[in-house]
Amino acid sequence: MKVIKFGGTSIGTPDLFLRVAEIISGRFKKEFTIVVLSAIGGITDKLINAIEFSSSGNQKYIGILEEIKSIHYVFLSKVIAVNNQHQTKDQLDKLFSELENKLKGVFLLQECSDRISDSIVTFGELLSSTLLVESLKSQGINSEFHNAKKLIRTNSNYGDADVSFSVTNQLLQEWYTGLNQNQIPAVNGFTGSDENGYVTSLGRSGSDFTATIIGGALNASIVEIWTDVDGVLSADPKVVSSAITLNRLSYNEASSLAVLGGKVIHPKTIAPVEKQNVPISILNTFNPKVKGTFIGNADNQNDVEIKTITFLKNLLSISIYETESIYGQKIYARLFGLLAQLEIPIITIIKSANGQSMSIIVQSEFEHLFLEKIKSEFIPEIEKNFIGNINSRNNLSLVSVIGISQNVKSLIVRRIHDVLDNYGIHSLIFLDDPYSLNISFIVDAPEVEKTVNVLHEEFFGESITSVKESKAVNFG
Ligand code: ADP
Ligand code: ASP
Ligand code: MG
Repeated sequence: MKVIKFGGTSIGTPDLFLRVAEIISGRFKKEFTIVVLSAIGGITDKLINAIEFSSSGNQKYIGILEEIKSIHYVFLSKVIAVNNQHQTKDQLDKLFSELENKLKGVFLLQECSDRISDSIVTFGELLSSTLLVESLKSQGINSEFHNAKKLIRTNSNYGDADVSFSVTNQLLQEWYTGLNQNQIPAVNGFTGSDENGYVTSLGRSGSDFTATIIGGALNASIVEIWTDVDGVLSADPKVVSSAITLNRLSYNEASSLAVLGGKVIHPKTIAPVEKQNVPISILNTFNPKVKGTFIGNADNQNDVEIKTITFLKNLLSISIYETESIYGQKIYARLFGLLAQLEIPIITIIKSANGQSMSIIVQSEFEHLFLEKIKSEFIPEIEKNFIGNINSRNNLSLVSVIGISQNVKSLIVRRIHDVLDNYGIHSLIFLDDPYSLNISFIVDAPEVEKTVNVLHEEFFGESITSVKESKAVNFG
């Protein structure tokens, strides 16, 4: 049994949607396959936009709803056989009227709770999965929709809910035993529900996570993630046009890539399958014949110096300077307590050796919340001048070199420094954890694209030349 997931761009046009249906039925013929689907590209953004308008009492939400409807009606007319269109339209219209009622309620109240927001943003996946199942059926392929809200149990952290694996694994295993083996099950990605039955979302791009939650629970032979690139590349191809496709990554490398900005997989994707040793394959819907990237156990591949370069943008550093170091310990304890209480993910923390300053790097979106809370937490210390300054610096990026070959790490570190020096790139903070095979450093955001490109040239320049040469031999 395998799990295959298609992202929003993979089903972005009716033609692509039909291609995806073809890939699915081809896969299913060889092995029982569970499909996980994202919303059609752009729909989730539109739903978020509609919530923003309706919750501020702006009727523009109606126009967005109409756009969402018309996109799905165009798909309906092209991916469903004529005889089945009427019945599918009824199903879509039922979903649209539910969606409309929710948005109208938000508009009237001029307020949208996180709970209601999740029940709205996950509609894109309900709509795309309905279209897929009906498209397959209209081509004579047996398929059925299974709502992930009945299968994936989360906490009530709406917007980015945490999965309760003990309950979810059991729900999925029970569900699986009841499945008709001659019918393709299609599950809406990005979606779960809490113990009160309210719909939750798994965070933006969370359908990758849905696929590995299912693959891990059911011990799938593989989880295939179909997207719009040839696999995991040596850098984001939107930034480095010469990036090359990697054949293989370890779970550890893939997880580092995902957490450190490699958008091709959602940060939580690896954990559910790693323990069971279920591999992942990243494949290209636009180029289905390409082998893609295999993610599995470490491969001891020593012929490459590094695997990939990633970056995270929109970071902020908050630095605290104490004047009375005797209070240091207590200040740090309270500061960490505050971070935990606010549930702000920490990118990194740097403390000066003399204990007089500490900088915390977080995503910029937390700036106001974090600064406000720190200042109110430490009012007495600030008044007594035990804490001197609290400074923030915005517009930072974290560049990471991932999957460094163990035996050449110190050499790689030196080369990174040399490249940065040669190109006049100032690294504000350099993070070299001796236990990690990744290296990260902070640069000012305007430097990030140049930094990634010059590092890529340093470490992949030769491979690019040899790929070009072999293509010239093959096709020249
Ligand atoms: P999907 O809609 O299929 O989930 P995403 O947009 O979430 O697709 O992820 C695919 C995108 O990830 C690619 O178009 C690419 O720009 C980006 N990306 C970032 N880093 C990498 C990388 N190292 N390798 C491949 N793609 C990457
Ligand atoms: N549709 C959701 C999003 O755009 C989830 C996903 O695509 O994985 O974030
Ligand atoms: Mg994605």
